[in-house]
Amino acid sequence: MQLNKHFSEISESYLFSTIGHKVAAYQAANPDADIIRLGIGDVTLPLAKSVIEALHRAVEEMGHKETFRGYIPSEQGYDFLREAIQGYYAGHGVAVGTDEIFISDGAKSDLGNFLDLFDVNNTVLVPNPVYPVYVDDNVMAGRKILYMPATAENAFLPMPDDAVHADIVYLCSPNNPTGATYTVAQLEKWVAWAKKNQAVILFDAAYECFVTEPGCARSIYEVPGAKECAVEVCSFSKIAGFTGTRCGYTVVPQALAQDGTQLNKLWMRRQTTKFNGVPYIVQRGAEAVFTTEGMREIQQNLDYYRNNAAVIAAALDEVGVWYCGGKNSPYIWLRCPAGMKSWDFFDWLLETAHVVGTPGEGFGSCGEGYFRLTAFGDAEKTKEAARRLKEAIKTL
Ligand code: PLP
Repeated sequence: MQLNKHFSEISESYLFSTIGHKVAAYQAANPDADIIRLGIGDVTLPLAKSVIEALHRAVEEMGHKETFRGYIPSEQGYDFLREAIQGYYAGHGVAVGTDEIFISDGAKSDLGNFLDLFDVNNTVLVPNPVYPVYVDDNVMAGRKILYMPATAENAFLPMPDDAVHADIVYLCSPNNPTGATYTVAQLEKWVAWAKKNQAVILFDAAYECFVTEPGCARSIYEVPGAKECAVEVCSFSKIAGFTGTRCGYTVVPQALAQDGTQLNKLWMRRQTTKFNGVPYIVQRGAEAVFTTEGMREIQQNLDYYRNNAAVIAAALDEVGVWYCGGKNSPYIWLRCPAGMKSWDFFDWLLETAHVVGTPGEGFGSCGEGYFRLTAFGDAEKTKEAARRLKEAIKTL
């Protein structure tokens, strides 16, 4: 037996495991410390009432012979959910076919699994800083990775460089970790670049539900012609709190082809072999997100998180700390005060304010000197964390 040697090329532990260990060690040494966690991007509000009711109904159906469901008729997902997603896209002026939508157990799985379609010799382009999954997935497979700096100079939104060729590019908008969000006009440039390079864009729209500003894209398919070069990966985790329930979807347009082969067909082939679909119960819960009542409840939850972002932003404004994000995104990306490095600020904030965030450097070298705070926390705890953050920074 030979092990995959590329595992030795990724860092030994996932960023959030490292943070978890550090916080656990601090808590063990300081049992009385009331630590507030604004680090990992997990949600804190429970599932919406409409979702819970739909889940209950589906559980009940599974207990009766007449309504019991076994293997899912199509690994691609039930029609009812794909039609609901199609309607959601239509609400944003984007037309997608139900045969272009694939239901999954979450965006993270699809982001990795989709790579099965591509040769190992493809070159991959990712932003720096970056959601670590894009990098690790490709390092594990042995692909060459190029990085494009996302810095304050380009407002953390790298644009295509005609001198750079790559075959696969990852764009995440609204961005994790920076919260920066591409406009439709900016994405037009990426679509043009991808077509010129015969590249595919893997567009991660996991945070699209946070977009509020006019001109900012919710979907790459708002760009004419994007269906010929882009796959869009999305999730119920952030819009509807499915981080533990697990459901997502990926759009693979029929128009996306390489040398006459449709990626939609390859993805279907891959899924029918390696995946047996998302539970019926979960798909019914996800469907409820798109009902009128479900959407109303979910908007309340999103507003709750948006308010948390505003609370953090107001605290940073008061002490004159630069940040971006928080408007079309649940993440606030701040410049560490007093010129501190990311991990130094992490330690300092944990010790001084008992607040946990994520060091920007953990997302890539260009994240050095920056720090991510999440708005997904409990509102009262977020207020307290913002207060402590402000008081601590004032002492610098
Ligand atoms: N994509 C991005 C950019 C994320 O930040 C996350 C989770 O934090 C995911 C995907 C994972 O989504 P899911 O829970 O659907 O796997």
